Amino acid sequence: MQPLPTGHGNIKFFCMTAPLIDPFHRPISYLRVSVTDRCDFRCVYCMSENMTFLPKKELLTLEELDRMCSTFVQLGVEKLRITGGEPLVRRDIMTFFQSMTRHLDSGALKELTLTTNGSQLGKYAGDLYSAGVRRVNVSLDTIDEAKFADITRWGRLPQVLKGIDAAQAAGMRVKINAVALKGFNDDELFAMVEWCAARDMDLTWIEVMPMGDIGNEDRLDQYWKLTDLRAKLAENYTLVDLAERTGGPARYVRIEETGQKIGFITPLSHNFCESCNRVRLTCTGELFMCLGQEDMADLRAPLRNHPQDDTALEEAIRAAIRLKPKGHDFDYSRQTVDGRVSRHMSHTGG
Ligand code: SAM
Ligand code: SF4
Repeated sequence: MQPLPTGHGNIKFFCMTAPLIDPFHRPISYLRVSVTDRCDFRCVYCMSENMTFLPKKELLTLEELDRMCSTFVQLGVEKLRITGGEPLVRRDIMTFFQSMTRHLDSGALKELTLTTNGSQLGKYAGDLYSAGVRRVNVSLDTIDEAKFADITRWGRLPQVLKGIDAAQAAGMRVKINAVALKGFNDDELFAMVEWCAARDMDLTWIEVMPMGDIGNEDRLDQYWKLTDLRAKLAENYTLVDLAERTGGPARYVRIEETGQKIGFITPLSHNFCESCNRVRLTCTGELFMCLGQEDMADLRAPLRNHPQDDTALEEAIRAAIRLKPKGHDFDYSRQTVDGRVSRHMSHTGG
């Protein structure tokens, strides 16, 4: 066992082994975990209508997910975000959340959170709060019922709104994530800001990304540059830049008039890879070191081949982190979807 380090950046070590530091000296403290590739919606930019999902045996079991996440926590991961597909459609997923509570209780894990389409929050908000979840990101691209049905294909807005109410009533802070889509929700920019402000919710806009084959939607037509979105916002409001950084491709402003925080996630038109602190685990146990790259490491084999001993898994994680690339290759600037990544967002978890 390697000695306990005395400190690196602002990371506090509960881990008994050397923490995860990549070749570019970035400490890896944030793990996003996709717990299923399935979903009860079919958002047009994310999935095709007829998706083929993975056979069950390919998926990590809930026990394997626990072992995987616990190993990362042991190696210094302080923040876990559970995602999917739709994480809350995975059967018995609450037992997984409940099992992660022990890492919050020990202090090793600082935050357990999730990204959800909100459809199941009405059912699970109380359980999530009991498991220690204090913040939840709900993806919602429009507050118009008909448009919502169009963009999600299978989703129903009233059910999601009930879910948001339930999450807030349970005591969780809700942040709304909206994909910025030209010709779809650009006309709702101010309506969405005001709607979120009235509910005391922050709002983050995400650039649409070239992920997966989702049929005939043309993402170049949909692409709404967030610098343009921000400029439009500034016509109505006073925007104050915030220094806050989360180690991801997000930047924040505060709207002086409403007090709420607006985020901009721009993986395409900006490159904030130098401060990247995160890796992504798929529901089959593949570790993606960068959302925009195909490179991945299989962690399921070392996990399954050594059911009683985490040494091989730990070594596989360390080997993967040594391969974390400096940055991604997305590029819309040449007006073709260059740098396209073949997997769906629902596979890596967004
Ligand atoms: N089902 C959950 C949800 O919708 O929040 C979690 C998984 S979803 C893949 C995570 C996030 O990825 C959502 O906010 C979704 O809007 C976003 N997303 C999916 N496909 C995208 C794409 N092609 N470009 C940008 N964001 C995308
Ligand atoms: Fe499902 Fe989320 Fe993808 Fe929409 S964005 S299809 S809700 S996984």
